[in-house]
Amino acid sequence: MENETVSKNFIENIIDKDLAEGVYDTVHTRFPPEPNGYLHIGHAKSILLNYGLAQEYNGKFNMRFDDTNPTKEKSEFVESIKADIKWLGADWEDRLFFASDYFDQMYEAAVKLIQKGKAYVCDLTADQIREYRGTLTEPGKESPYRNRSVEENLQLFEEMKDGKYADGEKVLRAKIDMASPNMNMRDPVIYRVAHVSHHRTGDTWCIYPMYDFAHPIEDAIEGISHSICTLEFEDHRPLYDWVVRELEYPMPPRQIEFAKLYLTNVVTGKRYIKKLVDQGIVDGWDDPRLVTIAALRRRGYTPKSIRSFTEQIGVSKVNSIVEYGFLEHCLRDDLNENAKRAMCVLHPIKLVITNYPEGKVEEFEVENNPNRPEDGTRTVTFSRECFIEADDFMEEPIKKYQRLYPGNEVRLKSTYIVKCTGCKKDEDGNVVEVYAEYDPETRGGNTPDGRKVRGTIHWVDANNCADAEVRLYDNLFTVPDPDTGDRNFLDYLNPKSLEVLTGCKAEKNLETAVAPQSFQFMRIGYFCVDNKDSSPEHLVFNRSVSLKDGFKK
Ligand code: ATP
Ligand code: MG
Repeated sequence: MENETVSKNFIENIIDKDLAEGVYDTVHTRFPPEPNGYLHIGHAKSILLNYGLAQEYNGKFNMRFDDTNPTKEKSEFVESIKADIKWLGADWEDRLFFASDYFDQMYEAAVKLIQKGKAYVCDLTADQIREYRGTLTEPGKESPYRNRSVEENLQLFEEMKDGKYADGEKVLRAKIDMASPNMNMRDPVIYRVAHVSHHRTGDTWCIYPMYDFAHPIEDAIEGISHSICTLEFEDHRPLYDWVVRELEYPMPPRQIEFAKLYLTNVVTGKRYIKKLVDQGIVDGWDDPRLVTIAALRRRGYTPKSIRSFTEQIGVSKVNSIVEYGFLEHCLRDDLNENAKRAMCVLHPIKLVITNYPEGKVEEFEVENNPNRPEDGTRTVTFSRECFIEADDFMEEPIKKYQRLYPGNEVRLKSTYIVKCTGCKKDEDGNVVEVYAEYDPETRGGNTPDGRKVRGTIHWVDANNCADAEVRLYDNLFTVPDPDTGDRNFLDYLNPKSLEVLTGCKAEKNLETAVAPQSFQFMRIGYFCVDNKDSSPEHLVFNRSVSLKDGFKK
């Protein structure tokens, strides 16, 4: 393995110990998303962690939809989640499961608890249950229904299942300890009545299990060895253990918690992202400014860059926030190595080479990627008129300006050295055309007389190019942590997070580019073909990441 020398993380240490002591023979992990939204970069971390561990230990990885709460779940999300996980490269083979497939077994498990005297039907309202629960400093009070007989409980629970009661009228609670210092152990609700259709089981059920009851059962049924979740479930672990113990599963899974991934200047929580989508602040779950996996893909992220990111940030027991710039750094690393180079002018102005013969066309072979000679070359045409960036010309240059200004020479990338001779302006004084003369002796980077030419600029042949729309993205939020404390994250939106440039000029070769292709637009940054809006008739490129690495290690 490539990382053999790298020290192991705390989860690997636990697994090593478990295997050494024979607690488990094999490693079996799972990823259990709730299908109530799209996956985001935090989920990617969890997926790659779980899948990676299964691979590392030659074990298995299950995909399981935790669809026990029918009110917020939709099939649309099931499909997007599957696609995202496949794209990331995690493979569940033939082990795709739904928690709802286990509703019968969960019901049986609840009956078993009742029979053992470990669960009871309670008629208290939600408010009363909360009141009875006590506080962190005071013990709770026992429900007056706590000591119902097994027979009565069995009957009432069956009636709950048969639809005799309205939502909230009765619940099933685990009978644990109302004085426990852990609030989660104070007779938690494990089943509730909810007369709602489920996206898979339809109207078969009108009672649904609570997460803390359902999850350990799902893990145990599937033979999960290490059930990895995030820190907020640490206080729920005693309940998790209680459920698998009381239900007498032969091989109780071990819950292990790690810290969630947070990133600066974005939001990762589904409920935040949902708000941005629902309020039309962003253009859907895959808006490239978001960090959903769909958005990252549309932005030009590669599975490799995301894997590299999650591997490098590692896993921890302590919450922390990772710089967004580090994610970008990982993408830049990948694209610098692998993206083909191309030329595109974002703010075009015409450059006329006045001493170049009218009607003449030359072809130049240029390397697709200097880092990968095997990627070959492509042909770009050159003629009397080309487009250059408007800011590559200054009539009156500022200090140290080394690009085009009257009397100065620059290289037109891969072609000739040209010398600026002037410009044409409109009535308002705006430069509308720039003029230059080329030196035929300098073809293809040749400098016969050892002349010093400092600037190199990119260009596209004005007579043979493609129009393009280019979308530039910036941070969605103006502060690193828009969702902390009592902040309303919507107050910190960056009004300039999206800039759309139309009328950009791309080299003709880009006309056939399709998603998910990425390019380095020379001197500008890394761009990908937009996977929704781009077509040969209307090219759309998204800036994935800028050229320069602002991330300080
Ligand atoms: P969110 O609050 O963003 O909706 P969630 O935890 O409710 O997240 P689930 O679909 O319930 O989302 O989570 C599936 C798995 O992904 C869980 O194991 C969860 O702990 C993990 N997960 C969710 N968010 C993150 C994160 N930011 N970093 C790492 N793992 C995460
Ligand atoms: Mg959730």
